[in-house]
Amino acid sequence: MDKAGLYIHLPFCTQKCNYCDFYSIKTNPTTVENFINALIQEIHLYSNHQVFSQVKFASIFLGGGTPSLLSSNQLNRIIDKLNQTFNFDADIEFTIEANPESLSSNKLKEYLSSGVNRLSIGVQSFADENLKKLGRSHNVQQAENVIRWAHEVGFKNISIDLIFAIPGQTQTQWEANLNRAIELNPNHISTYGLTIAPGTVLEKRIKSGLEKCQEEETERQMYLSTINIFSEQGYNQYEISNFAKPGFECLHNEMYWNFSPYLSLGPSAHSYWENRRQWNVSNVDKYFESIKNGEKPIAEFENLTLEQKQLEFIFLSLRRSSGIDIDKFYQLFKTSFLEKYKSSIKKLESYQGDSLFTFEDNRFKLTSEGFVLYNEVCGLF
Ligand code: SF4
Repeated sequence: MDKAGLYIHLPFCTQKCNYCDFYSIKTNPTTVENFINALIQEIHLYSNHQVFSQVKFASIFLGGGTPSLLSSNQLNRIIDKLNQTFNFDADIEFTIEANPESLSSNKLKEYLSSGVNRLSIGVQSFADENLKKLGRSHNVQQAENVIRWAHEVGFKNISIDLIFAIPGQTQTQWEANLNRAIELNPNHISTYGLTIAPGTVLEKRIKSGLEKCQEEETERQMYLSTINIFSEQGYNQYEISNFAKPGFECLHNEMYWNFSPYLSLGPSAHSYWENRRQWNVSNVDKYFESIKNGEKPIAEFENLTLEQKQLEFIFLSLRRSSGIDIDKFYQLFKTSFLEKYKSSIKKLESYQGDSLFTFEDNRFKLTSEGFVLYNEVCGLF
């Protein structure tokens, strides 16, 4: 039986962060309650699905938004419905994304006893001035408390997110962030360069001259120092933005990268199985309306062409430290990667500066410098 991943998008937040362009709306108890009822209906609509009623799910990931706004009672109602509807591995990885201001030690205990075994905490920075700039609704003390409580109540798999290249942040401050993260001993750390997305508060502040974007070179140095500092401390870089102690790589993400089937529920969530990609409407009202009519809230779907699938395989593999498995590419597509993409590889070879890729053990991998230029590299394929 195939293994699959299950993602649920909970689109609620206490406030909108200054850099955020994810689909999220301001929380309000009635809408959250209505949403859970609708979500339970959406789960039900997949009970006879030709693929997802047959597979075993190896991971559940509650993302958002701020899933940790759910009370344990609300979480348990969702879990009960999932258990009635689908099959799950006994040793499932069950992650909840959490924002520090929405957690207490008690709530963490309750989540743990509901079966959540991986916590992904949106710390973003260990400097209050950075958090203010990002418009986060927590402070450093709250973030540190949550990491400590998570250890104390018995979470064995704790991940934190950090953001670099925040306006005004220096290299020294960023390295202090990394060192503080290591002291607090999570098993997994994700780091993202700040993207200034159109329409966000931060973009307006930059346009009006109130803030200044970081220089590309500063961002590059911050990224390269992250790789060095984490690898010295036993956090292996297994993906462009992800670092983990051995055995703590995120299984759910690995399933996306491996083309495993995944079902995603909730507004704006994307699913994939058997070459088909489908995504839900990105609007809570439209979501409610479809569910009320007994229909899946699907916005659109597409069947991937061979070319799209090959490119997706390349782009996902290039994000990983293990790179493109040349043999696997041939097995999947009956085409030689090196032959088909030789002109792209030639262009990469002619890049002036440190080499962007290596080719070893039949794997084509990006170097750290290659990761820095990931988007440009992908543009060559
Ligand atoms: S908590 Fe996350 S999803 Fe919510 S507004 Fe902030 S960045 Fe966006």
